[in-house]
This record gives sequence, structure tokens and C-alpha cells, in this order.
Amino acid sequence: MGRLDRRSFIKRVLQAAAGIFLALGAPQGRPAQEAAGPLVKLAYRALEPGEPVLVTLQSDGTARSASVAFLGRTVVLRPAPGSRSAFAFLGIDLATKPGPHAMVIRVDKATGGTEEIREDIEIAEKAFPSTKLRFKPEYVTPPAELRERIRKESELVAWVMSVVTPEWLGDGPFVLPHPAPSWSNFGQRRLNNEVLQSIHTGLDIRAPFGDPIRAANAGRVAMASDLYLGGKTVIIDHGLGVFSSYGHLSELKVKRGEAVGKGRVVGLCGSTGRSTGPHLHWAVKIFDSRVDPEAMLRLPL
Ligand SMILES: [Zn+2]
Repeated sequence: MGRLDRRSFIKRVLQAAAGIFLALGAPQGRPAQEAAGPLVKLAYRALEPGEPVLVTLQSDGTARSASVAFLGRTVVLRPAPGSRSAFAFLGIDLATKPGPHAMVIRVDKATGGTEEIREDIEIAEKAFPSTKLRFKPEYVTPPAELRERIRKESELVAWVMSVVTPEWLGDGPFVLPHPAPSWSNFGQRRLNNEVLQSIHTGLDIRAPFGDPIRAANAGRVAMASDLYLGGKTVIIDHGLGVFSSYGHLSELKVKRGEAVGKGRVVGLCGSTGRSTGPHLHWAVKIFDSRVDPEAMLRLPL
């Protein structure tokens, strides 16, 4: 093993509509698509804070496994069901500093040895909207006896999402949990009762009260609980570090541990917890990165 000299393989970076293609071991002068060697492809909507990235390895048979290190985390690409490719998810957290961030892609060859490629990925700056909201004071400055409950619940949610299932449980591309339009308020900076208190880490969908809310993809229910701030909340584990959550529900329709198919009703829309009226709070996390759920719909799964 060991890092190969840069000149011992040719790295090709092609700007394309879908993203960047990185080819390892491609002979010079030939397009990456015809590369003799494994092809690592990044697919994304944008390289900005709050965006998910799908990493796919299309092996020509010479690669045994691959991993990608980016933004302080290393992910191993897992075989995609029913295909010769392998994939993994990366999240560019909402609070990622814009600028160049090193990505290291490592491919273990079937014949032994490792090839490594290092590329600076430029994270562009993104301006998130801001707003002023009015809540009952007990939701903005909760009384002492509730602060402990809120702390414990946020710890529990973090713990639930820290348990990564090392296989893909999803079923094709992500879909909307409800067809109503959103407020496009992912990443919104919020002044709650004049105090800059929070960043909105999900997307609010204008679903009417009582409407069915559906799983955005297949997975396993990791949590179905009533939380002080989030209200009645369902969290689905899709595997490979991807979790989606559905908050402020009026009713829970699934239980923890249950396997759910894509489109399965997980609850009914409501306004439980810290909410100003009926809507769905939809959020997606990739490992500990908070990403825009709408961007998940664009990933070519
Ligand atoms: Zn929300």
C-alpha cells in the first residue's frame, strides 16, 4: 500500500451538468467515460453548505473497494443492489466554511495495492434567508424544568442518528413526503421573539392538518416519539448514514423498528411541538451533516 506518485496515474476532472467525474488510472488523452480503470463519480445539486453528494464507483473489475475522505469523515463505498457499482453518501453540513476542502479518494485494487487521489473541492458560499418568528415564550425561553427534557431529547435524537446501518435500505430515488409546496426555508436564520436563536435545519411543507405524510424512501423506523420542540416525530434510517425525519405530526402511524416502504404513511400532518400552525417539518441528515431534503430528490439513485 502507499500513496502513488501523482504521475503514476492520470486524474481527469470533467465539469459536467451532473457534477465532476474523477477517473483513476485513465490513460491520457482519452475521455474518462472510456477510461481503463475504475471511475469515481460525484453527483450533487451544488457544492454548497447544506447539500448532499452521492459518490459512485463504477468498477471495470480492477477495483476491490473504495473509500472517500471529505470534511473530516471517511466513508466506504458499498455495493449497489443489482449492479456492479458501489456508492456512499456525503453531506456538506449547513455550517461548512466555504472555500477549498481536500477530498481523498482511495481505491483498493483487486490485484493488490492502493491508488489514492487527492482533489480540492471548492465549496461555494451560500446566502441563507432569515426571518422573525413569534412563539409562546415557553417555547423560546423554556422554564428550567423543561430545559432538561429538551436537552435529553436532543441527545436521544443525536444518538439515534449516530447508529449507522452499513447497507442501503432505500428503494430508488427519494420522493416528496407530501405534494404541497414548501416554504423553501431550509437553512433559514431565525430570530425567535427578537432573539437569534436557531437555524432552521429542515424544510417546511405546507401540508394541511390531518393529511397523510409518507416515507421519502424505504428504510427502518429509528424513532417514533413525541418531542417537546419537534412534536410527534418519525425518524427513518435509510442506511449508509442517511436519516429522514418528519416533525409536528398530529398522529404517529408507525412504530420504532418497523420496516417501511417508500411512500408508506408514517403519520398525519399536525402542529405539535414548537410550531406556528399545521405543516410538515421534513429534515435529512447524512451522518451528522444537515442537508436540504429537496436536494435529496435530485440524487440519481
Ligand atoms: Zn420546520
